[in-house]
Amino acid sequence: MSVSQSLRELISSCELPANEARILLAHILEKHYQLPRSALLSRDGMGLNEQAFGEWENLVSRRVLGEPIAYILGRKGFHNIELEVGPGVLIPRPETELLVEIALTEITKLNKHIRVLDLGTGSGAIALSIASTAPLASLIATDQSTEALAIAKQNAQSLKLLDQVQFLLGSWYTALTEPSQFDVIVSNPPYIAHENPHLTQGDLRFEPQSALTDYASGLSCLEIIIAGADQYLKPGGLIAVEHGFDQSEAVMGLMKVAGLIGVQAHLDLAGHCRAASGRKRL
Ligand code: GLN
Repeated sequence: MSVSQSLRELISSCELPANEARILLAHILEKHYQLPRSALLSRDGMGLNEQAFGEWENLVSRRVLGEPIAYILGRKGFHNIELEVGPGVLIPRPETELLVEIALTEITKLNKHIRVLDLGTGSGAIALSIASTAPLASLIATDQSTEALAIAKQNAQSLKLLDQVQFLLGSWYTALTEPSQFDVIVSNPPYIAHENPHLTQGDLRFEPQSALTDYASGLSCLEIIIAGADQYLKPGGLIAVEHGFDQSEAVMGLMKVAGLIGVQAHLDLAGHCRAASGRKRL
């Protein structure tokens, strides 16, 4: 029995922006009625039953308090996959797909069985989207958070990619259990400086701070990752890292200091330099 207003009225009277209200309501319709998103239009006169309405009110109030939509839904689309996410992991950002594209371009060019290392994998977004697109790649994905690795492994299992990706616990290269060299190293480390006001605003307030900031200048994790590239890359191997919009010069400088060649900046879809890559000499 319906206890609520119609879907149309729920959206128009909701204090959230209509696009957010629609996302939350579509989630409720899927979960409680197994209805597709299109029901927001095709069944817009229907009301919700007591249980569904209770959940709707709960989700709306969580969002009103600022909780990110991805945590409320427990999932987020990234590149060509969907990931489970929760407060233990950074919410994958669309700009990070740039890193995946750089790695995939390299993998396609090499066209052989290749080994990829993803440092600080979080939800597994980068490693798993590479694995799902490139069956010839085998990956190691690391994280220093047990909570993040549990989510990443769960995602690998749901995507049936567990035999392609191995997960290791630890900080950057120290997570590796045996001496290894890789064709490609990718990383989206924490790069926000500790005093940056964005850390206390919007969605970032709800995300793990250790995935966002290095509690220093913003460059300290990037520096460790880039400094290790020579030891952990095969000759000719490629490293690509994400960084802040204003860190391009600094990160390319670190790559040159580390002896990497062919150092390049990469633009995201918004036209910002958000990634840099370099190569170990042959
Ligand atoms: N791109 C994220 C942001 O600006 C930060 C991610 C990171 O620190 N790696 O919100």
